Amino acid sequence: MKRALVAVFFIAASATAAIQSPSEFVGFEVGADRKLADYKQILAYFRALDAASPRVEIEALGKTTLGEEMIMAVISSEENMRNLQQIRDTAKKLADPRGLSDAEINALVERGKTVVLVTCNIHSTEIGSSQMAMEWAHALVTSNDAETRRRLDNVVLLLVPSLNPDGQIMITEWYRKNAGTKYEGGSMPWLYHHYVGHDNNRDWFMLTQNETRSLSRAIYQRWFPQVFVDEHQMGSYGPRMFIPPFADPVDPDVNPLIWREVNLIGANMALRLEQQNKSGLIYGYSYDAYWLGGTRNTGWWKNITGLLLEIASARIATPMYIEPTELRGGSKGLVEYKPTINFPNPWKGGWWRLRDVMDYGRIASDALHEIAADRRDVFLRNTVTRARAAVASAKPNEAYRIPRQQRDWPTAQHLAWLMNEHGVEVRQAQSGDYWIPMAQPYSKFITEMMEPQRYPEIRLQAGADVLRPYDIATWTLPLQLGVTVEHTTMPEGLATQRVTEIKPETKEVIKRGAQLTRKPRVALYKPWGSHMDEGWTRWLLDTYGFAPKTLSPQQVKMPLPFDAIILADIHKDVLATGARRPEEGAMRYEEEMPPEYRGSLGTEGATALRQFVENGGTLIAFASASNYVIENFNIPVRNALARVRESEFYAPGSLVRLKVRSDHPVTVGMPAEVAGFLDEAIAFETTSPATDVQRWVLASYPEESRDIVLSGWVRGADRLARKAAAVAMTFGKGKIVLFGFKPQNRGQTHATFPMVFNSLYWSVQ
Ligand SMILES: [Zn+2]
Repeated sequence: MKRALVAVFFIAASATAAIQSPSEFVGFEVGADRKLADYKQILAYFRALDAASPRVEIEALGKTTLGEEMIMAVISSEENMRNLQQIRDTAKKLADPRGLSDAEINALVERGKTVVLVTCNIHSTEIGSSQMAMEWAHALVTSNDAETRRRLDNVVLLLVPSLNPDGQIMITEWYRKNAGTKYEGGSMPWLYHHYVGHDNNRDWFMLTQNETRSLSRAIYQRWFPQVFVDEHQMGSYGPRMFIPPFADPVDPDVNPLIWREVNLIGANMALRLEQQNKSGLIYGYSYDAYWLGGTRNTGWWKNITGLLLEIASARIATPMYIEPTELRGGSKGLVEYKPTINFPNPWKGGWWRLRDVMDYGRIASDALHEIAADRRDVFLRNTVTRARAAVASAKPNEAYRIPRQQRDWPTAQHLAWLMNEHGVEVRQAQSGDYWIPMAQPYSKFITEMMEPQRYPEIRLQAGADVLRPYDIATWTLPLQLGVTVEHTTMPEGLATQRVTEIKPETKEVIKRGAQLTRKPRVALYKPWGSHMDEGWTRWLLDTYGFAPKTLSPQQVKMPLPFDAIILADIHKDVLATGARRPEEGAMRYEEEMPPEYRGSLGTEGATALRQFVENGGTLIAFASASNYVIENFNIPVRNALARVRESEFYAPGSLVRLKVRSDHPVTVGMPAEVAGFLDEAIAFETTSPATDVQRWVLASYPEESRDIVLSGWVRGADRLARKAAAVAMTFGKGKIVLFGFKPQNRGQTHATFPMVFNSLYWSVQ
């Protein structure tokens, strides 16, 4: 007996000895100033851990946009690792406990493990967590103390070292290239995700990108974690770390047990950090409990406890010295930089480095692991409670029907596909109709996606302004997609089958374009710097086969051998000069880009664009960029809201009713009314032009201001009444199309995609 124990100990000890630390593996001190491991090194390290330790397995999540391998490390005790299939099955049953008795639930809770997902580095400049992940994994596989073993026994940790490997590689390359120059630690002249940049964390309900879809499948179709923590970084001059509780507003439809668990976990993190003298922790700050588009947020409506962590940033891996006088508040939850109950121990200033980011993140991550082990049964049982409550909230046979007979069936199929991707139970009847029964665990999510949003007007004090949404104020899918969906009762005895494979047919507008005798040659203007709407537009055009050419500022000069040029939603000053004018009173200092990445349209570009249109080209501008066209072309249109103040008009991103004319090439196939996505103060007024110019109001707002907002929140909606939302005109031999709204917002607004595609077709008609 004694000999056997010695032998076991010897094997464990020798296996541990063979496992290199991250620093030994990459050959430099991970977390040191000016040192970064890139994703390929991180991936190699996790593979080495997998090979060396029975506590780790690497799971492939899929390919990134640029073809990298996306992975998730599964980390748990040796015994749990042998039983992963059973642990997954248990988690799945707890997430959907329909048909299980209390006794069966008790048995599942008894043998289940807390499944905790931690995602790092979705935002590539927020790099600390990608480095920390290696150190954390190393500690978990090499430590043999009783407390580590207890945590490993109770928890299955799913650790994603980078949710955007492409961007992690771009950022480390850019950082290394500029190290030692005045550009060290500065921003890149392009997006850190091939298509969507920072908006990769705005895609979690629409799932347009590879990375989003891959993780979503791992969560909602394979692992069913109970807890999900997403690790980010924020600015450098405020608190050191945001740890939930979240700030207002809150969505009252989310099960309140979610917020109680969020707060329990957050409290343990803050406690452990404070015990280790980490100052500057804040809660109830900036980040709300309402917005659904972020990585972990979507899970709130699917009974998953999701937390966001935000740590102050260094300049990538370059340390920053912060003067005490530079520290400031100014965000929701911290007006002035001084002690408050949600911020009792402000950081006092001084050096802030990558190592600090990693240390704060690591302590919080360990505290998560600890509480997930401590309260294993609570997290498992509450998941069942929430799922059962969601099922019970449905009325008898309550369901959504997506009828087969409708104007745009391929897009309706896309909606059914999307709900299935989300792990929602989608059924189909003989008639072809899709049915989504509401008596299922994700019913809150279904409601949230199907129904209009009414933004809660919360004030923190009497007389104070309404709290602004963190991001947009609407996501209603039937409106955004232009799909008919009925909230109804499923007929008793209707035969339906669950569908798990849905392949949407080609959209009518794309089929129509395929019949054109000539394909439009499309160019998309891409300013230096990261402009997400340009990326989203490029994604849309790539996805639907338009193969756009990218034009840098330097390339906008005649000849421009294209039929159509698109200016995405980019501020007019950025288009004209390359730099946005600072808002009044705002602190603004921007590092310069290296000279080869500077430049803008300037007068030369503006002249070239005018000549392009005069000679027969078509210029298409989205939202802000239409202000640029109005200023630089002599056209009979102006923006009636150009000088309006935010206190008078404010649209954070809402769906508004558009009345669409039917007799124009840009509106072919469109319904008479459609929802448009508006997030800027733009409403056009047109006038009668000279006799050689034709102009058309393509879409306009209703007469009555109460009819305008369909979902979300718009302050001063009356200012839109009877104004034009999209206009077209001739100019010389060419054409101009201006959209005041965003017809392609974040790849979500399928309802208005046809107006973009039709504008391109019009350029060759
Ligand atoms: Zn972030």
